[in-house]
Amino acid sequence: MAEPPVVVTRRGELRIRRGHPWVFRTDVKRAEGVAPGALVRVLGPEGRPLGFALFSSRSEIRLRMVERGESLPEDFLRDRLAAALRFRETVAPGARACRLVHGEGDGLPALVVDRYGDYVAVQTLSEGMEQRKDHVVALLVELLAPRGIIERNDPRVRTLEGLEQRVGLLHGEVPETVEVEVEGLLLRADLWRGQKTGLFLDQRENHRMVESYARGRVLDAFTYQGGFALHAARVADTVLAADVSGEALAHVAGNAARNSLANVTTREANAFDLLRELEHGGERFDTVILDPPAFAKNKDAAEKARRGYKEINLRALKILRPGGTLVTCSCSYHVHEADFEEVLADAAADAGAAVTVVEKRRQARDHPVLLGVPETFYLKCFVLRKAG
Ligand code: SAH
Repeated sequence: MAEPPVVVTRRGELRIRRGHPWVFRTDVKRAEGVAPGALVRVLGPEGRPLGFALFSSRSEIRLRMVERGESLPEDFLRDRLAAALRFRETVAPGARACRLVHGEGDGLPALVVDRYGDYVAVQTLSEGMEQRKDHVVALLVELLAPRGIIERNDPRVRTLEGLEQRVGLLHGEVPETVEVEVEGLLLRADLWRGQKTGLFLDQRENHRMVESYARGRVLDAFTYQGGFALHAARVADTVLAADVSGEALAHVAGNAARNSLANVTTREANAFDLLRELEHGGERFDTVILDPPAFAKNKDAAEKARRGYKEINLRALKILRPGGTLVTCSCSYHVHEADFEEVLADAAADAGAAVTVVEKRRQARDHPVLLGVPETFYLKCFVLRKAG
């Protein structure tokens, strides 16, 4: 390999040997003459070979490990991609919409690949992956033969790598909206402008799961395009799907019609106000679903985020009938599962409700969590039952 090796500190070495794929700037001892985005050999402080990584010249995360062995396969991207696709055949067999590559969780740091039927959305979120984008696209064309590939490289994390935020076509054509079957529902996804890459695929398994709990009158307070609400509508009497975004709600209405679900009503509202209003108005529900955006985008915001989670969960428990189910989520990585559980316990105490934990769930299995790497576990989903 042409690149000079990168030497890490003792602490960096220990992290790598524990299986963590990231080495921070402060744990890099020597990286002179290494080109931005280069594939490098990584050595410990005493020269011990630790594997191979992609080098980020601007980011605090300086190295992202791609291999911990002594040698790197000639075309490691192809091998990892093929392995990721094989894994989906186990956890999402035949799925028309799912995450095909989940970055670090698939040994492909900073790369995201989502499938929506015949179309694919890609994110290359580090200098190294950005430079390998053409190769990734060529491999996807070869392995999946999609009709189109779009890059949804608009996440803000790209700026930490010195990369511009960009959305554009990489291959074939990608229409304004794509109609795709997800967990038995026909949904319209907006790959160009929708949140994430179009839909919240990380909730796909949890969406389906609500079919085993939803009943009676349902409230989905942060519905986006109806991920939970539409599944609930298949089994419950009525569903109120609310969101602060009117544009998102237009999709809910369209998706409901597409699936002949006539029992879904939409309401444009701020969930904090709506929950308060419903509570004070004496409205009661048998099932409540809370899936807010990440309230804590960084460590410092965690405390404020806890207050936000507490408030909505407290109000949700108050408007829940005895015996009802609360499905409540947090996608803030900085609010860990145990913290979130504590917040829920506080909310239950304040609501004067006896609550049992029916299930503790997480992001769908096509978003793999790396053992020992907490950063890869971000989405928590609790199913709670209010005694009654
Ligand atoms: N439950 C959805 C994903 C929700 S994403 C699914 O599984 O597909 C979070 C949603 O909350 C976004 O659609 C956003 O518009 C909405 N949102 C953000 N702040 C809000 C608020 N204060 N009140 C209501 N909705 C809000």
